[in-house]
Amino acid sequence: APNIKIENLHVSIEGKQIIKGLDLEINGGEIHAVMGPNGTGKSTLASALMGHPKYEITEGTVTFDGEDLLEMEVDERAKAGLFLAMQYPSEISGVTNADFLRSSINARREEGKEISLMKFIRKMDSKMELLDMDESFSQRYLNEGFSGGEKKRNEILQLLMLEPKIAILDEIDSGLDIDALKVVSKGVNDMRNPDFGCLIITHYQRLLNYITPDKVHVMMQGRIVKSGGPELAQRLEEEGYDWIKDELGIKD
Ligand code: ADP
Ligand code: MG
Ligand code: MG
Repeated sequence: APNIKIENLHVSIEGKQIIKGLDLEINGGEIHAVMGPNGTGKSTLASALMGHPKYEITEGTVTFDGEDLLEMEVDERAKAGLFLAMQYPSEISGVTNADFLRSSINARREEGKEISLMKFIRKMDSKMELLDMDESFSQRYLNEGFSGGEKKRNEILQLLMLEPKIAILDEIDSGLDIDALKVVSKGVNDMRNPDFGCLIITHYQRLLNYITPDKVHVMMQGRIVKSGGPELAQRLEEEGYDWIKDELGIKD
């Protein structure tokens, strides 16, 4: 089963230390949620794992299926089976959604093992149906004039089409109305299987009403300060983060 293991991770941006000793391990079959106040380093974690050049890893290790993730180039990470929402450029003129998805799938495959056009179309049709997406969507140019909700839906379509081993989904719930939120959740739930592990990063508990995580982690000041089950997310919803700060003696 897939595995990502983060140990003692330290990340800085332009010399400023943002992540300060973070540990997290995700296995296939598990959905984890990382929650935390704004500005605590959640998106920094996602960007660092993606290999964004601006984010400097100053200490710690990350292994992906036992291999050193930090040594891999960005495209090697994707090819190894790591998925990060928002990986693709915002608009590419003249490239349809279908073209883009098909070339993304093939870029992750060995030469000679590309997905056939028929298989691709069948798969895309069924995933779009699951996500309640209009057929015309596949022929629209990538992200051109997509609404916020359509972009999120499209990210989930990409997830379902690429079938990565591990996905890191940062704020996939931001700006969604309740219907879009349900569709996005349905897509993630459909991915649940022993060969898939997922990290959901969210500021709000709302998404976790639809996707039940196995583990919930609270991130504060660049570290995971508390872990628990779904009930932890519920308590954060009801009581906010102050009780954890009190517990840990953190002042803001
Ligand atoms: P969160 O996702 O938890 O809201 P972020 O990871 O976005 O937090 O931000 C953590 C801290 O890092 C903030 O203080 C933010 O201002 C800073 N930061 C994030 N990205 C950058 C960047 N590209 N350049 C400079 N500072 C950044
Ligand atoms: Mg933020
Ligand atoms: Mg963020």
